[in-house]
Amino acid sequence: MGTLDGKVALVTGGSRGIGAAIARKLAAEGADVAVTYERSASRAAEVVASIEGLGRKALAVRADSADAAALTAAVVHVAEALGGLDVLVNNAGVFPRGTVEEMSLADLDRILAVNVRAVFVATQAAARHLRAGGRVVNIGSTVGERVTGPGMSAYAATKAAVVGMSRGFARDLGPRGITSVVVQPGPTDTDMNPAEGPRATKTLALSVVGRHASPDDVAATVAHVAGPGGAFITGSVITVDGGVNA
Ligand code: NDP
Repeated sequence: MGTLDGKVALVTGGSRGIGAAIARKLAAEGADVAVTYERSASRAAEVVASIEGLGRKALAVRADSADAAALTAAVVHVAEALGGLDVLVNNAGVFPRGTVEEMSLADLDRILAVNVRAVFVATQAAARHLRAGGRVVNIGSTVGERVTGPGMSAYAATKAAVVGMSRGFARDLGPRGITSVVVQPGPTDTDMNPAEGPRATKTLALSVVGRHASPDDVAATVAHVAGPGGAFITGSVITVDGGVNA
């Protein structure tokens, strides 16, 4: 018996990194799981195959989160194909770096579209399908709370926005028995922030545990709030950062 038996989950940006780990963990807990992706069709297919290998239904849908119509259509398609929706994980995100002097308006618009607007769009589309007891889990970042170096102002703004939005979702959807939570990772070993990358040393200097999170560390917390253990957690922000923001 898994904690998510009979549930249907959608993870945006589930082809790689944290999203792929979340998709696999939710499936391991018994959910049928769909993922969206932008470019990595073969990586998304691998995630689908691994979920099907667990005996669950799985689906990958190409949908650029910056394209509201495509994202909305993906949510509707998933709900129709898998029979409704219980868990939405807004995970897809981008992190173009640049100081306030350097960042182009095009990059600013793109990060706002993917990291902020898409969270609203996907949740709006999902709200029509989410059943009572449903969960919206929004992947924020510790950078939304504490900016630890230059070149992160736009990214920090998007992750702080996700916190405010998620609290609003909690108020909007709570009467229907749907929770909304931010899970905010610290540095996590993915393509976005490799543990062996040039910034790793600075990052580790801030960490209490002295290592990056693995995507599985983050997925474990998402699975907890998506399951029965999350029933009374809403409007909250849960930090998974090995003490970086301590
Ligand atoms: P990765 O860059 O490793 O993976 C990003 C995922 O998001 C991929 O599946 C990618 O799809 C998808 N994605 C990116 N842009 C779009 C888009 N426009 N439309 C649809 N899908 C898209 O990132 P992480 O796994 O590291 O990050 C996942 C989330 O966690 C993000 O929200 C990030 O901000 C957050 N986070 C990450 C931290 C870290 O240290 N890694 C720390 C704190 C928060 P595709 O493969 O097709 O490109």
